[in-house]
Amino acid sequence: MATVFASSRHDRKARQAELIALIAKLGREKFAPRAAAYDRDASFPFDNYDDLRAHGLLGLCVPEAYGGLGADFETYCLAAAEMGRWCGATALTFNMHACSGLWTGRLADDLEMTPAQRAELEALRAEHYRRIVQDGAVYAQPFSEGSAAAAGRAPFGTLASKTEGGWSISGRKIFASLSGAADYYGVLCTEDRPDRSMRDTLYIAVPAKAAGLTIVGDWDPLGMRATVSRTLVMKDVFVPDNAQLMPRGLYFQAATKWPHMFLTLSPTYMGIAQAAYDFTLAYLRGEVEGQPPVKRRMYPTKQIAVAEMYIKLQQTRALFERTIAEAKVGPSKDERLRCYAAQFSIMENSNAICALAIRTCGGQSMLKSLPLERLYRDSRCGALMLPWTAELCLDRLGRETLYEPGETDD
Ligand SMILES: Cc1cc2nc3c(=O)[nH]c(=O)nc-3n(C[C@H](O)[C@H](O)[C@H](O)COP(=O)(O)OP(=O)(O)OC[C@H]3O[C@@H](n4cnc5c(N)ncnc54)[C@H](O)[C@@H]3O)c2cc1C
Repeated sequence: MATVFASSRHDRKARQAELIALIAKLGREKFAPRAAAYDRDASFPFDNYDDLRAHGLLGLCVPEAYGGLGADFETYCLAAAEMGRWCGATALTFNMHACSGLWTGRLADDLEMTPAQRAELEALRAEHYRRIVQDGAVYAQPFSEGSAAAAGRAPFGTLASKTEGGWSISGRKIFASLSGAADYYGVLCTEDRPDRSMRDTLYIAVPAKAAGLTIVGDWDPLGMRATVSRTLVMKDVFVPDNAQLMPRGLYFQAATKWPHMFLTLSPTYMGIAQAAYDFTLAYLRGEVEGQPPVKRRMYPTKQIAVAEMYIKLQQTRALFERTIAEAKVGPSKDERLRCYAAQFSIMENSNAICALAIRTCGGQSMLKSLPLERLYRDSRCGALMLPWTAELCLDRLGRETLYEPGETDD
């Protein structure tokens, strides 16, 4: 797969289509049949990751120069949405892994750096990409701490102190998806120095086996159960200098200048919305495998509901596709605001489409033997993802539509 996708004979759209077809095949044949058991047990989808690894997909966003598939932002989002269609938890955890490559690769390339910083970035990412492409390593992204930090409003409380040859890290991360499954945890932390601010954010990969790192707490949530997002505790964890994923100062610049980087949580939920629609059609047509071939499509109320679902799905998809196509460094104000609107719409509409699907298909459709109730539970989690929860998107849109930067009413 890696060779086919990387071939220069194919243009970008054709490469995207190939990639999506591969993920659709894996999803239909492997991920979807396994999803119910992972959800029931709240266990990590290791088998799905073995399949992703076997098809070179762990290197999806690793630049081709480093042996990866070199997917750009838009390609990643389209691929992730397809994955979400078959298993939401696999797509959401894959987002944490894939973005470790995307943010340090394509996105970081767009940022302002001195020649020395650029050389440092090259050296750092070469090692991380080697681990992903050659060793099949999986990276997680535990940022959240239960404070305003993951909301982008305060420095991270996890601190990294400079020591001889590396860093000593202490702190606590909640909702660490892939906990116990990742080989490296890409932790956001603050350099421990006087008057520290968000500019002092460091992005450092802590090996799962590092002394002082423990995973605590249970994991029995409403939805996205197979993400296994337990709590990570780090106490004086030493990592060498080359554990940094980006040179000092670069993460803050990325978060400020490349805001679409936070939209990458939403493709999973675009895929879930599509899955709920797909299921509803099959169910109303009496074509769900293993179910009696009872047709329900002849009732006008069900037809209207499906029409509403289709309209909501197309509205959401149109905004999704437009927004991912205009992602770039330094977007215009309109592009940035549209990005918040897209995140809000995808997260909220995904859940609305799932709710409509259950109401329309009826009582037998929400039994645990069918995927719809899982889609419904998983879809509810989208609006909670920081830094762009549905509330924070509204908050930003409300303020930024009415005020220019620095404007006050005094
Ligand atoms: C299934 C799942 C998987 C996840 N995986 C990861 C992961 O891999 N990595 C990761 O880093 N996180 C992950 N998260 C965490 C997620 O991104 C959020 O950080 C988490 O849901 C926030 O929970 P909370 O109860 O602390 O939220 P909240 O209490 O809602 O928010 C935390 C803080 O953010 C600020 N805040 C929130 N809302 C507002 C508002 N409206 N206005 C102003 N400030 C506000 C406040 O300071 C608040 O105390 C995951 C979450 C879920 C549900």
